[in-house]
Amino acid sequence: MSVGYNDTPILPDSEWHVHDGDRPQPAIVTPGTQESLGGAPSDAVVLFDGADTSKWVGRDGEVQWKVEDGYMEVTRTGDIKTKDSFGNCQLHIEWASPSEVKGESQGRGNSGVFLMDRYEIQVLDGYDNITYADGITAAIYGQYPPLVNACRKPGEWQTYDIIFIGPRFDGNELIQPAYATIIHNGVLVHHHQAVLGPTGHRSLSSYSQPHPPEAPLRLQDHGDLVRYRNIWIRPI
Ligand code: MG
Repeated sequence: MSVGYNDTPILPDSEWHVHDGDRPQPAIVTPGTQESLGGAPSDAVVLFDGADTSKWVGRDGEVQWKVEDGYMEVTRTGDIKTKDSFGNCQLHIEWASPSEVKGESQGRGNSGVFLMDRYEIQVLDGYDNITYADGITAAIYGQYPPLVNACRKPGEWQTYDIIFIGPRFDGNELIQPAYATIIHNGVLVHHHQAVLGPTGHRSLSSYSQPHPPEAPLRLQDHGDLVRYRNIWIRPI
């Protein structure tokens, strides 16, 4: 099965096209058994406690995602964003892809965590699901595959712990790129990885558009019924 593209731009410092189907798959690692739902630390901003969506807005105002049993679930009503804006931060977020496996490649349990509304850390059911490496679970989408694939089985709760440093601009000039360190289910999958720019589909990212130092956190509605819970953030 062909899962990628070979008519897209070549990524810098690599031999790979954006979403290259031939780029090696990250090695599979079985994470430890803890599915988290630990509490937030005392100085964190709790963005979603399992019931209250008041810190978020949907496409047309109120969040239309389903909230029940301590989680919220995509309802094909569009992405949701935080009302507040964030820049440098530590983010904890838990998610689960549907236990009923449907679709393949990018069509299976797809969602995403967009830091600063622009930088997507891919959420996908990447368990026993081949897709292009820079689009698998915990990829910096279209740029860097995770160091390993630490997915749990579909339907099980998974954690991302993300340390994100936003880019710095001086006028139109980039002074420092964004950096991401990401732990997936307790396993390091990106270490201080320089981000190439806001993530995109089939395109080469760049910092050609300067943006403010803070922006909302956004969760993607890609049409798959992905669930989220226990979301908290600590601005750095
Ligand atoms: Mg996505």
